[in-house]
Amino acid sequence: NTRKAARPEVGKLLPQVKNIIGVSSGKGGVGKSTVASNLAVALAKLGYKVGLLDADIFGPSMPKMFQVEDARPMLVEVANRELIEPIEKYGVKLLSIGFFVDPDQATLWRGGMASNALKQLIGDANWGDLDYLLIDLPPGTSDIHLTIVQTLALTGIVVVSTPQDVALADARKGINMFTNDKVNVPILGLIENMSWFTPAELPENKYYIFGKDGAKKLAEEMNVRLLGQIPIVQSIREGGDTGSPVALNEDSITGAAFKSVAESVV
Ligand code: ADP
Repeated sequence: NTRKAARPEVGKLLPQVKNIIGVSSGKGGVGKSTVASNLAVALAKLGYKVGLLDADIFGPSMPKMFQVEDARPMLVEVANRELIEPIEKYGVKLLSIGFFVDPDQATLWRGGMASNALKQLIGDANWGDLDYLLIDLPPGTSDIHLTIVQTLALTGIVVVSTPQDVALADARKGINMFTNDKVNVPILGLIENMSWFTPAELPENKYYIFGKDGAKKLAEEMNVRLLGQIPIVQSIREGGDTGSPVALNEDSITGAAFKSVAESVV
């Protein structure tokens, strides 16, 4: 699996990282961070060296999803450079903008501040050799997306959406932003999240709360792969809130679902 440099001229940054994948969504609240955290853990469990950069400046959730809210990355000296050492948890090297801001304060990012902070987390961090670096992008389309595509040669983008029409409309916009001539980053595929709900007492019944197969149809329409469908399950939400992603247990139904998504990404 060699990295296809979307922008070869910036491919020099992080040359020791084989694949850099952005996780994006058109809207907030569709489960982008939940998917990114579980995908990272599932890839690590498959034996890959994995890093996860939380670039969601509006609501960095990785410190909580990995239960490392109090962690403060240290500076280490590597080849005469001071680098930020990622926090390691569940086999994933993690850096989040959330480690550097007060979680209870709204952070007003002016001008290029957020972009500069992110560039530091990319270029001035001790990521080391990685098979996969996942980047949890902010929802929608923003300066941050531009910074990322201009700073790094991305292998591609994974788009998370619920099957709901309003989410799909924004997912379509996001796909078009990444695939336009100027940016030109490959879309690795769509992940449909919250595909259906099944109550514990009625395991045979699937309730398509947000509509059925919406992302599947969008994938067909836009000629991109559907990488998986993840149902609404209480344990997925609980795993996020307690910092113990369900992907840690690949024998559970939910863990297996994320494992299968990870296998379709590699
Ligand atoms: P985003 O990153 O898109 O804003 P989050 O990953 O923060 O979304 O998810 C929003 C909320 O929905 C969180 O509380 C999360 O735990 C919950 N959630 C996400 N996906 C699922 C799922 N498949 N089943 C149950 N809860 C989910």
